[in-house]
Amino acid sequence: MKIKRNYEEFEGKNKFYCNGFIIMSSSNCAFLITFSSIIFTSTLFFYHDARYFCEKSFIAIPIVGGWLFMFVIVMLLWTSFSDPGIIPRAESTDEAMYIEKTFAPVIVPSEPGPPVYVPPQRQLDVTIEGKKFLFKYCFICKIFRPPRTTHCSICDNCVECFDHHCKMVGNCIGKRNYRYFYLFAVSLFFLCIYVFVGAVTHLVLRCIEMKSFLEALDENPTSAIVAFICFITFWPIAALAGFHSYSITGLMISSRGENPYYAGSVFYNCFKVICGPAYPSLIRRRETVSNLLVYASYGAIQLPANDTSKAPNLSLPTSC
Ligand SMILES: [Zn+2]
Ligand SMILES: [Zn+2]
Repeated sequence: MKIKRNYEEFEGKNKFYCNGFIIMSSSNCAFLITFSSIIFTSTLFFYHDARYFCEKSFIAIPIVGGWLFMFVIVMLLWTSFSDPGIIPRAESTDEAMYIEKTFAPVIVPSEPGPPVYVPPQRQLDVTIEGKKFLFKYCFICKIFRPPRTTHCSICDNCVECFDHHCKMVGNCIGKRNYRYFYLFAVSLFFLCIYVFVGAVTHLVLRCIEMKSFLEALDENPTSAIVAFICFITFWPIAALAGFHSYSITGLMISSRGENPYYAGSVFYNCFKVICGPAYPSLIRRRETVSNLLVYASYGAIQLPANDTSKAPNLSLPTSC
């Protein structure tokens, strides 16, 4: 009998490959363009320019370039193929129904005009370690979203610490893959500079050897193409790497005038993003369906599906 795994019954719009090992967004054409562009440009560089440096005994140039290229590809695949921090949808529909009943819209009669529609309150004020947090309810996932969690309309899932949906890598960027995305952006920035400088240096050296720029260009059109590709792609990559480098310092001010995720110092904030703990995936996509666990509305409080005696008790404020 074929074992059915959780990813086969997954309710979001994500796509799974290789028996659930790989998870991506349903629209991942842009990822293929990103991936093939990096491979194409790097292959031209290594085949044409790096080979020239090898012949001239500058062996360190292709070795460093090779390491940088491998690092970029690994970070890209890690970002694109991993769970970004999807919060599973509520398993208990009874609890969701009870919560949603309290959200029923209120129609207040207003004389002499038509009745006034009062939108339902669908948020929960939670105090954690003395700080107030606002948990908004997601009607699709039927959970109260933790702070910084957003429902991605493309993937149709709530993603914890949602940064953005990145078409370039074909995945959401969230709590579990942000660091790989950041490292990918920064390493791609350096690879772009490295390949550009390498290709231009090759052209200049050939120009000096041949004593003619046009002859050198005629002999090495590949170097010119590689340099041109790097030049035009450098600016968006630099903007991306620069923005996220600033973002991880934690110096950005939230709309409330403070950043609740600021860890106390710029270096500690960066350290936390790059070297902090890896978070477990909550969707457990490779587990068999029979082992499906009931999740609490937030976090990985796991209970066997038939054990209702220990079900999480979600208390609502009287204002809801
Ligand atoms: Zn949601
Ligand atoms: Zn998404």
